[in-house]
Amino acid sequence: MVPYGVHGHLIELNLVLLGYLPWPEKLQCVSGYWRAWVHRQLNGNVLPDNFEDWVYYHFGSGIARHFMIPYNTELWGLSPREMSLDWVRPFVPQSSLRETMKGLIANRTARVGYNTVFLYPVRGGMQALVDALAASVPKIELNRQAVEIDLSRKTVRFADGGMETYERLISTMPLDTLVRLARGLPDNLRGVSRRLRCSRLLNVVCGVRRPLPHSYHWIYFPEEKFPFFRLVFPSNIMASLAPPDSAIISAEISNPEAGKAGQLAQAVRGQLLKLGMVRQPSDIVFTEQNFLTHAYPVHDQQREAAVSELLDFFKGKDVFSIGRFGAWRYSSIDDAIVGALDAVEEMVESPVAVAI
Ligand SMILES: Cc1cc2nc3c(=O)[nH]c(=O)nc-3n(C[C@H](O)[C@H](O)[C@H](O)COP(=O)(O)OP(=O)(O)OC[C@H]3O[C@@H](n4cnc5c(N)ncnc54)[C@H](O)[C@@H]3O)c2cc1C
Repeated sequence: MVPYGVHGHLIELNLVLLGYLPWPEKLQCVSGYWRAWVHRQLNGNVLPDNFEDWVYYHFGSGIARHFMIPYNTELWGLSPREMSLDWVRPFVPQSSLRETMKGLIANRTARVGYNTVFLYPVRGGMQALVDALAASVPKIELNRQAVEIDLSRKTVRFADGGMETYERLISTMPLDTLVRLARGLPDNLRGVSRRLRCSRLLNVVCGVRRPLPHSYHWIYFPEEKFPFFRLVFPSNIMASLAPPDSAIISAEISNPEAGKAGQLAQAVRGQLLKLGMVRQPSDIVFTEQNFLTHAYPVHDQQREAAVSELLDFFKGKDVFSIGRFGAWRYSSIDDAIVGALDAVEEMVESPVAVAI
């Protein structure tokens, strides 16, 4: 069971292992991993200061070259050398020598990482969790776009012409949007907010009228020839997400070129056929595209100082900016819920007038 009466099933991730690699690549990964391990034993645990060096330090040159560096470059849209390390735990699992060798050589799985087991609602997808949380809140107004936040008068103006006042405000809109909408913000902080970087994402979702030929939950694609960096198979996670004997495939494309969504969706459909995920073009009964202007908050060397300065300023004005992009931190749904509880605890002595 997940909280608030939503029925959830425990999902155990189907892990695809490095052991499936062709032999030359597998050997490069094994020897690189060994050399990195020996290097760490001889030189102690002196952590590198950027993500690229950290990848070589932990995984060695084979895994770095064949997976970690190309995959992360594609996902984040910048060189891993520019990235800091304050996000890698828990998002980049570090398996032990024994577990890695088992995976590489014997193709055996181990439960490594923060999300190898998770709860998922039996019906209604993740929306069921949001609906259940919303049901206990007396007043929620949806689809009202905030267009200005006056920090001195403590008012929020909306696109529909309406206005609300607040004593303390919790905002989960992206921090750079909050900066843009804030009235009464020192000019230098607008400059600070320009240091925040993130990736954009095009999500191409295909409805397929046959079951999938595998039971994987998602697969990463580090090779440049694929337009997407990840394919997710939601109906393999929970069958109720698609009608019987059919499936959903979601392709995630990082930083798509402007105006190319149609072409990219076509390329996704082509690759699904080539990969054997779909037998024939007519099996794809619909394709939907969703575009996110904020997908992955980039943890580069400037992020932490910029975020702290902005969050401290807003808190001084009784505005709590929280959530994945409110706090500009790589995080998951559970972190967003915990962050909201923490914010409420911090301001518990006075009620929240408006929540965005
Ligand atoms: C591709 C992808 C895959 C992911 N997969 C997972 C996963 O498998 N598991 C997991 O736990 N997490 C996953 N996440 C992360 C998860 O989606 C986020 O952590 C979570 O949605 C963050 O919640 P939030 O409330 O902070 O932000 P959001 O869900 O982004 O909510 C912010 C809200 O602010 C609103 N807003 C913005 N501007 C305004 C405005 N001017 N006026 C009013 N409202 C405004 C937006 O419309 C939005 O509803 C994934 C994210 C991405 C991009």
